[in-house]
Amino acid sequence: QTNVTTRQNELIAARRVPDNCIFIGGQCVKPKGADANAIPLINPATEEVIGTCADANAEDVNKAVENAHEAFESGIWSKRSGNERGAVLRKIGQLMRENRDLLAGLDVLNCGKPTSYALFDVDSSADLLDYYAEIAETDEVSRVVPLTNAPGYVGKEKRFPRGVVGVITPWNFPLKMALWKSIPALASGNTVVLKPSEVAPWSCLEFALLCKEGGLPDGVFNVVIGSGKETGVALSHHDKISYLAFTGSLFTGKKIMHAASDHVIPVTLELGGKSPLIVCKDADLSLACRSAAFGIFFNQGEACTAASRLLIEEDVYEEVLKGVLEEAKKIVSGNGLQENVNMGPLVSKPQYEKVLQLIQTGFDEGLNCVFGGLPKESGKGYFVPPTIFTNAETNNTLWKEEVFGPVLITKTFRTNEEALALANATEYGLGSGVFSTNRDTLDYFADNIEAGMCSLNTYHFSSHELPWIGWKHSGLGIGLATHGYYEYTRLKQIAEYV
Ligand code: NAD
Repeated sequence: QTNVTTRQNELIAARRVPDNCIFIGGQCVKPKGADANAIPLINPATEEVIGTCADANAEDVNKAVENAHEAFESGIWSKRSGNERGAVLRKIGQLMRENRDLLAGLDVLNCGKPTSYALFDVDSSADLLDYYAEIAETDEVSRVVPLTNAPGYVGKEKRFPRGVVGVITPWNFPLKMALWKSIPALASGNTVVLKPSEVAPWSCLEFALLCKEGGLPDGVFNVVIGSGKETGVALSHHDKISYLAFTGSLFTGKKIMHAASDHVIPVTLELGGKSPLIVCKDADLSLACRSAAFGIFFNQGEACTAASRLLIEEDVYEEVLKGVLEEAKKIVSGNGLQENVNMGPLVSKPQYEKVLQLIQTGFDEGLNCVFGGLPKESGKGYFVPPTIFTNAETNNTLWKEEVFGPVLITKTFRTNEEALALANATEYGLGSGVFSTNRDTLDYFADNIEAGMCSLNTYHFSSHELPWIGWKHSGLGIGLATHGYYEYTRLKQIAEYV
């Protein structure tokens, strides 16, 4: 306990952005009345108030967008060469690596995740900066289009940055989600106003300082902090935003889409999920059990691609269930600052209460709870045990609703066709996983599952070189990879008579 408290104090003392500040035009500024309207920040592992953050209002958001707009129009970033932009991004990536312990530690304090996961998020985000630096450096921007039917004419297509990109992100991977959106937008020459979650704002604010130190011109990257209903609404409705990049719930995503329609601007939505993981009887069952447990319990189940529906072929049901239970028993839950902890608390009291209520519906609807359930201890912290319900039916609440907590449901199947129908029996279509040693089986599911992403004999594999896609109600547009970069550009057709 002493070590954890000392570490928490060290991290808080190492922060360079004071409480209730936002980052506009290269400066940390405290909005008028910010102290009076501050939002408390609570460490979910201890329930202590560890600081406060601003609730930026429409006026503050307007300043941020105006700064970003001016910076864009000045060409100080948008008209720089890809090589110049790439060099700045690489430098910022390097500064992130030098500050990895602080950035990761702040995510742990704000959202409770284990330190090892938070460090992975920082390291992979630094790699993301290098990746998009290279794309900016090698992007040819314009391309001659051979016109086979128009002698005397030359055709070209040329891409341009869009302008000010508004980025709105959630709390489950605070820095990583913010950078997945912001970095490709910056790499392609846009300026950005980011609104991270008001529950976990610290790492993004510290990152903004690193951007300045890495040579990003003032006004190119701005961070406004505050609630969705105040700051988020103001940002998504601002008329100088040219593109809205959103990650969060389906409920909010629909509002963002409405806001975008007011100004006829494009939007990317990365939303929720209810992802299936299918274990066939010919699978490497040991691998499948480890992956199924990791699939749901990673990051306390607060992952959009959490494999929350486990579909097991009937012949191996007992064996697989036993294997997943063994894995669940190994989980060490605790304060994310402690070594060896691999499951933290849920992010906040509202999230904790929501998850407990959903677990209760499992009992109410007659599902069989074989592990975990409602927490028995009443100590501090929003801890929910890894929980497994069996005998789920497609009309159960836990089948239909995203829990965003460590709650797994299982169901058996007899044929691949039945497994496919069950996998697709959801409004969502984000992640999916299949475990089998049969090539045809793997291809059958990969081709027919209605989800933007399908993992074969692995789960939670993620590479920024692959596109990140939600089908159905899990999203709109494409994140990451080269697609994610081009999303933030607009295309022009140039035709010339020569
Ligand atoms: P949320 O939708 O409540 O909030 C997301 C962000 O939107 C926050 O910054 C919030 O302040 C802001 N916001 C809320 N209301 C707003 C409004 N009316 N206008 C503008 N902004 C508003 O989501 P959350 O609880 O922070 O995150 C959990 C959700 O995020 C889950 O559904 C999860 O599946 C999803 N998620 C999806 C992905 C993905 O890649 N598909 C990744 C991570 C999380």
